[in-house]
Amino acid sequence: MNERFTGSFTQQEPIPDEGIEAALRVMRSGRLHRYNTLGDELSEAALLEQEFAALMGSTYALAVASGGYAIATALRAVGVRPGDRVLTNAFTLAPVPGAIASVGAQPVFVGVTEALVIDLDDLAAKLDQADVLLLSHMRGHICDMGALMALCDGAGVKVIEDCAHTMGARWNGVPSGRHGVMAAYSTQTYKHANSGEGGLLISDDAELMARAVMLSGSYMLYERHLAAPGPEVFERVKYVTPNISGRMDNLRAAVLRPQLARLRDQCAAWNARYRVVEEGLAGTPGLTVIERPEAEDYVMSSFQFLLLDWSEEAVNQVVQRCADRGVELKWFGGAEPAGFTSRYDSWRYAPSERMPATDRVLKGILDLRLPLTFSLEDCALIARIIRAEVRSVHNQASG
Ligand SMILES: *Cc1c(COP(=O)(O)O)cnc(C)c1O
Repeated sequence: MNERFTGSFTQQEPIPDEGIEAALRVMRSGRLHRYNTLGDELSEAALLEQEFAALMGSTYALAVASGGYAIATALRAVGVRPGDRVLTNAFTLAPVPGAIASVGAQPVFVGVTEALVIDLDDLAAKLDQADVLLLSHMRGHICDMGALMALCDGAGVKVIEDCAHTMGARWNGVPSGRHGVMAAYSTQTYKHANSGEGGLLISDDAELMARAVMLSGSYMLYERHLAAPGPEVFERVKYVTPNISGRMDNLRAAVLRPQLARLRDQCAAWNARYRVVEEGLAGTPGLTVIERPEAEDYVMSSFQFLLLDWSEEAVNQVVQRCADRGVELKWFGGAEPAGFTSRYDSWRYAPSERMPATDRVLKGILDLRLPLTFSLEDCALIARIIRAEVRSVHNQASG
């Protein structure tokens, strides 16, 4: 009898009790809007920003309505205008090119390597096409940040980091999001902290952050922030920066604060699960496990592996056979977007040229989530199922 997995790949943990209690306090107060404070009361949203800046080591932080909104706000703050071109990853999720399109700009896609990071050679070749790189640390894979920053600094290209999958990760000891001029995080349910929807933006640049605060819809209440620049900086931007409302409310902030306080432990728990799957899949014929560089201190709340140069039919068989045994694999190589997977050529509002080396990698990427509701035993079982099904399809194909 074949083993079957019965867990849910979309089931996250409950909100910690302190978060639930804090949310109840906010609701009982009726003061859900971040600027609705009594006297010298500090709002949950302002406290969240202060704590997030401390956690990341940034000077400033801003809480907003979503990760996608945080990215679009960063693009606006650095001065991206309609018609501009913005470099970004070919391997990412739809909200990334979507944020670029939301400001009327055009994505210029940069390829992906077999290590699932941005292709620095392709980036070097395209650096003269834009003034901004929106770098997506897609699925938690971090490229050589030293090399990337040297390239971008050399060309005068500003880097905005999309850290939706790297909250808590580091490169060479530096937190992910601390290399570029601004970094965006998501607190949507499937990311590393869960407020249903939500986003965070960090920066050390006073003027960029003052613009971001104004953009997020602070009216003239910016002095109620605890992780924003001083009023003199706002004086320079406040009449020329539009209000594009996208604030975070106190309810979401209340739910998030206790989660951020335990982020380190959560990251360790994800990585323990990742390593069990990694060990379970190592050495499977036909399957490539992603090598992780020494300098990368990753946080893997999902797992990727490659079936490089497999036929579409064989990949579909693996996906189907794993699904039959309860293991939900997402394939980034499908010609049509399915669920959250899509390819750069699926975003037809953003014209692109074919990238054969990137297409080869995308065609081979399989992806699964590893929510913390899975035990280490669950992860070992998932790996055994994938290994067995990959092996039998591979044997059929080669035998
Ligand atoms: C989720 C996600 C975002 C956007 O976050 P939302 O909070 O859903 O808007 C951006 N980039 C990547 C890579 C994501 O996975």
